[in-house]
Amino acid sequence: MIAEVIVDIVHSDVDKIFDYIMIENVQLGSRVKVPFGQGNKLIEGYVIGIKEESSWPLEKVKKITSIIDCPLSAESIYLMHTLSRRYQQPKASILRLFLPSEMRRGNVHEKIEQSVYLVEENLNIASISKNAKKQLEAIAYFQLERRCTLFAANKKFGNAAIQKLIQKGILKKVEEQIFRKPYRNLQDKSDTHILTKEQQEAIEKIQSSEKQVQLIHGVTGSGKTEIYMHAITNCLQQGKTAIFLVPEIALTPQMLKSLRGRFQSAVAILHSRLSAGERFDEWTRLKEGEAKIAVGARGAIFAPLEDIGLIVIDEEHDTSYQSESAPRYNAIQVAKMRAKWNNCKVILGSATPSIESYLFAKNGHYHLIELHNRVNQQSMPQILFADMRQQLRNGNASIFSDILQDEIQVCLQKKEQVILFLNRRGYAQSVQCRQCGYVHTCSHCDVALTYHRTENLLKCHFCGSQYTPVQHCVNCNSTSLTYNGYGTQQVVKELQKLYPNAIILRMDNDTTNSKEGHLKITEMFAKGNADILVGTQMIAKGHDFPNVTLVGILNADQSLYFDDFRSNERTFQLIMQVAGRSGRGQKEGKVILQTYNCQNPILRYAADGNYKDFFANEINLRQATYYPPYSIIVRVLVRSAEKENALDTLKTVYTKLEKIYIENKKDFVFFHKMIAPVKKLQNKWRYQILMRLCNKNLLSEIYTAVTTIKTDKANLYVEENPNNLQ
Ligand code: ADP
Ligand code: ZN
Ligand code: ZN
Repeated sequence: MIAEVIVDIVHSDVDKIFDYIMIENVQLGSRVKVPFGQGNKLIEGYVIGIKEESSWPLEKVKKITSIIDCPLSAESIYLMHTLSRRYQQPKASILRLFLPSEMRRGNVHEKIEQSVYLVEENLNIASISKNAKKQLEAIAYFQLERRCTLFAANKKFGNAAIQKLIQKGILKKVEEQIFRKPYRNLQDKSDTHILTKEQQEAIEKIQSSEKQVQLIHGVTGSGKTEIYMHAITNCLQQGKTAIFLVPEIALTPQMLKSLRGRFQSAVAILHSRLSAGERFDEWTRLKEGEAKIAVGARGAIFAPLEDIGLIVIDEEHDTSYQSESAPRYNAIQVAKMRAKWNNCKVILGSATPSIESYLFAKNGHYHLIELHNRVNQQSMPQILFADMRQQLRNGNASIFSDILQDEIQVCLQKKEQVILFLNRRGYAQSVQCRQCGYVHTCSHCDVALTYHRTENLLKCHFCGSQYTPVQHCVNCNSTSLTYNGYGTQQVVKELQKLYPNAIILRMDNDTTNSKEGHLKITEMFAKGNADILVGTQMIAKGHDFPNVTLVGILNADQSLYFDDFRSNERTFQLIMQVAGRSGRGQKEGKVILQTYNCQNPILRYAADGNYKDFFANEINLRQATYYPPYSIIVRVLVRSAEKENALDTLKTVYTKLEKIYIENKKDFVFFHKMIAPVKKLQNKWRYQILMRLCNKNLLSEIYTAVTTIKTDKANLYVEENPNNLQ
């Protein structure tokens, strides 16, 4: 028999299927060692097919050397084929998504522990001397508990006593694998609710729907999580498994608490901030069927589960479901592929669905379920505008409007909590010269540096380079420098001046570097050990702090001016999400939205919580201007340390793509080559060909044209509707 093997090398030259002679125990999905190349070097590979004979002469076919394990299923092999075709990525790179990276490197192993258990049939109390008190105590203990780790037993009853009992055969020593448990100190939260009528109806609608994809559009606080939990319970009752995706790290521990409270050890968590050992063990528990629910961010969509009955994607509009580095994939698309294979449903949930998903729901591709009310009939928070232009005219140039300052005061007096949201980190955004206007940028990237006050450093948020703050403009040598904008650090500092007794927490990328950093901050805030939480995007989503009655959005317009067709959508989503943090408990919530642009329609829709009109407005705009979902944006990015090389490669790509363009002009809205908006990043020059297509059938032709260019001068890749067009 012949095994078809993909070798674990990500390179287009070896992105082929190789034939090897089978050895015993090898099956579909096995990870094996095979001799490869001229020197027959031993490397790892995956068996993705088995056949009677090879089309190569038998003497040319080498033999598999040994088998390691069997991490892949028939489904993962199907997904590998589909994804590598869809995104034209090397098969080996796709397969790597299916297993924890530490498993491939072979540097993580099962944790083995010795335990002892009672062998009942050998127990003869009479054979033990009455003076052997410790032995008798141990026996009494084991009669109740049966089994215990050797370490703990020795500690409780002494090595000598335990050793004696083992010699007598009353206790037996065994070695067994134990699973490392992430977030071991997390308290499970087991609160079940009586469903509201809306929740009950939603669950029934999901069950009776014929459609594969269910979109739950429910206002913040409408109890979507409870609906997911019920749907998961139904799924487990049918003996099936489930995947539950949440957007980013900030959410996972919170969700995990409730999930573990309800499903105990059936839950396994997969995400990059776990230790290698924990990740390996959680993966193994899923693979072996010991855990049934995989919870995690984007990558958990590749969980090694069989017989999946449900895939839930919370906050489905979130950009983190799109992978921005190779292999590029979209977790929602993968979810739909897995749903098709397993014949199960996908639930997408959001208070602000993506324009694309909502359009799919409107035109019947998805089944739409809408929840209009918060549970307990709490009202939606009241959103008030603070006109910052007027404030400036009135002589208030501070970060905080008068109304926000007053409301914070009131809130603190009532012992309620405040969240202040800011779309930035660091102390000030950038350093600009007042004389010549020069903005200080990173020398490796064409990006403005950010000042960090506590460390007194200028940092590049793209490559991490750090600089000591300049005293003179590097362009004109003037000493008149200004720090534009403000960041979370400055907000905290100014707040502390205004409210000296308030306890203030800050949550952003700088304060959450450690493994459980998010958790520590959110726990502390949830317990009421702080009054104000200041943060960036990561506080916008998912958190449920019932004592928060005031949310301040410090600079609501920020994202409106990004040069991106999604900036309206992002702004609307962000405001709705942040506002949704207010008034989730019994008390009513308020939101103060500070803006220089009170008349902006997007801000108005958001303030009214009016998704429908926002959508109607936005979808018309997209249709009129041929932007997604009425077209697909395709960008081919070329990067090289040498400008010449980048330009040469750009030319080669352009010539090939231009042919496709000329033959299919009617399917293109846009086709141009240009320098990228951020022209240099991490010392690499960046050029791009930007296209907008109205025909998705051209995609594979474009991918093929690009991936068949072999060059070591520059690297190039294709992106579809990227989140970020910098
Ligand atoms: P969403 O995800 O829709 O914003 P959540 O699922 O976080 O809302 O629910 C908001 C709050 O309401 C949570 O504290 C949750 O525990 C609570 N909750 C959910 N369903 C019910 C219910 N049926 N009765 C009472 N409280 C509920
Ligand atoms: Zn940089
Ligand atoms: Zn200057």
